Amino acid sequence: MSKILVVAEVKAGEVRKPTLELLSKIRQEAWTGDAVLIGDGVQKHAGLLAGHGAGKVYVADDESLANFAVDRYTAAVVDAIGQARPDMVWFSASEMGKALGPAVAARLNAPFVSDCAAVEIAGGNVEVRRPAMATKIQQKVRIVRDGLKVITVRSGAFDAQPAEPKPAEAVALAIPEGDGRLVVREVVQEDTGRLDLGDASVIVSVGRGVKGPEGVTFVQPLADELGAAYGASRAVVDSGWMPFELQVGQTGRVVSPDVYFSIGISGAIQHLAGMSGSKLIVAVNKDPDAPIFSVADYGIVGDLFKVVPVLLEEIKKHKS
Ligand SMILES: Cc1cc2nc3c(=O)[nH]c(=O)nc-3n(C[C@H](O)[C@H](O)[C@H](O)COP(=O)(O)OP(=O)(O)OC[C@H]3O[C@@H](n4cnc5c(N)ncnc54)[C@H](O)[C@@H]3O)c2cc1C
Repeated sequence: MSKILVVAEVKAGEVRKPTLELLSKIRQEAWTGDAVLIGDGVQKHAGLLAGHGAGKVYVADDESLANFAVDRYTAAVVDAIGQARPDMVWFSASEMGKALGPAVAARLNAPFVSDCAAVEIAGGNVEVRRPAMATKIQQKVRIVRDGLKVITVRSGAFDAQPAEPKPAEAVALAIPEGDGRLVVREVVQEDTGRLDLGDASVIVSVGRGVKGPEGVTFVQPLADELGAAYGASRAVVDSGWMPFELQVGQTGRVVSPDVYFSIGISGAIQHLAGMSGSKLIVAVNKDPDAPIFSVADYGIVGDLFKVVPVLLEEIKKHKS
């Protein structure tokens, strides 16, 4: 049986949903999972990870770890691996996972596969599936080397199952020293006042079809009514109508929500690379030949300025 160490992520004082997705998958498959928690004031989350199936929770909790620093965090994960002796280490394919996964793999001379969308483990064989070439193809990768294997997993690849916190078997890690070459002094984050794209189960995204900032404001009530995160195509971001943090796609965020609304987005391959893993896709576009319809589960051919108010009205009726 495989033992997996999940590297947890905490943001704004909460364990991020992708971490719970990874632990849920391990629990569902009846594999063995531990977790590692790194940060400042993170010890309190150990019970939640235990509730989601982590056997042991390795904790490095110190104010020097408040900001992500790849050298210190790598050292803490390597320490946890030395104690937990897992067969695999799983990171979510977030900005942190993308930085830390390869660093940990390189430090331990372990094979590394990024951005996995499915994982199969049978008799010690590990096979993952991952989109490649801006999702034009799906690769199946078998990791043949014995010993530790390190992967990052796309958010939304697995479902996060609800679980109550329970007392954790917590193991304190030594507080790692940085090598001093890189010091993160401050993290400045634009406050969009909205749900993070990576944590949202519903996302409404807008494209150049909204015509300008007024169009962005016009569609926003749909996102508000659905309690959804609000995203954008690159055309919208490049035009300065929405900030880069909200860009979905190959050079933006990769998301896999339960429902993705695409409003006035053509569906260029680079946009699909960021959202085609969504469980249900609803597209509104006035062009019946728009490529977005090739991935959409529901397509509405029409002028978004007429369709969005109808959608909004219907959703309000449904909720009341
Ligand atoms: C290296 C590289 C990386 C890239 N990375 C990304 C990325 O991360 N994310 C990304 O999104 N793009 C990315 N792009 C850009 C991508 O190729 C497209 O240019 C971009 O996605 C187009 O955005 P759009 O669909 O909003 O605009 P457009 O292609 O202009 O499409 C607008 C759509 O709106 C529809 N429309 C217009 N008016 C209405 C209306 N009134 N009602 C309904 N529909 C209407 C049109 O029919 C059209 O389909 C990248 C490109 C490159 C080369």
